[in-house]
Amino acid sequence: MIDFLKRLFLVRKCVVCRKVMLDDTREEVFCNECRAEYERLKALRCRICGREHRLCRCLPPRLFHDVAHAVHLIPYRDAFAHRLIYVLKRKNDRVTRRFLAGELVRAVRDAGVSTADCDVSFVPRLPKSIGYYGFDHSRTLARAFARMLGLPLKRLFRHKRRTPLQKNLTVWEREENARRSYHLRRRLPRERGRRLILVDDVVTSGCTMARLASLAKSVGYEEIIVVSLARAIFRRGRI
Ligand SMILES: [Zn+2]
Ligand SMILES: [Zn+2]
Repeated sequence: MIDFLKRLFLVRKCVVCRKVMLDDTREEVFCNECRAEYERLKALRCRICGREHRLCRCLPPRLFHDVAHAVHLIPYRDAFAHRLIYVLKRKNDRVTRRFLAGELVRAVRDAGVSTADCDVSFVPRLPKSIGYYGFDHSRTLARAFARMLGLPLKRLFRHKRRTPLQKNLTVWEREENARRSYHLRRRLPRERGRRLILVDDVVTSGCTMARLASLAKSVGYEEIIVVSLARAIFRRGRI
């Protein structure tokens, strides 16, 4: 009886296609088809280095100067990747977040990036969006990631109100917009001998991350590592 009720009320749907999953005994977020698609995307090879995406260490051109490593799971191009990121942004779902944070932890380890002496931080969402959705998905993802690695989560940056959304701008406008939008929080202590992992959902042009990396260096972080779920494919400096 209890099993029956559990099945009735706790039925899980695939986070991407919303299909009901009958085999809901595991903490699985995808149906069989979506799981296969996710694994296919993870196994795709980077067009620059030829490695699988989660092992690719190529840096978007704008990140060259301040970022030591950039790790990501899947390319940001198919409808599947867009839908997955959309779910993370809109739905405050613990199971999805823990799954994705676990995947990021594994990717960092597989890429051979050390997390010793690291703090974790995130790209803050617009205050307007936090008010609308009720949570900051970057912060909750970064917190889950930091907890799994036993690292401190630091709130280093603030996102000023009323700036245009990055996705509607050209690359050149994005650079300028990122410079005006993101600032350090006030009265941060100077860091010595620490490294910083910046967690985000998607890295597209790298302008926002480049801005945050240079801000983090200005308070003393020695090495910056960028960790994201998806990365836009870039070619000859273009997205
Ligand atoms: Zn599905
Ligand atoms: Zn690569």
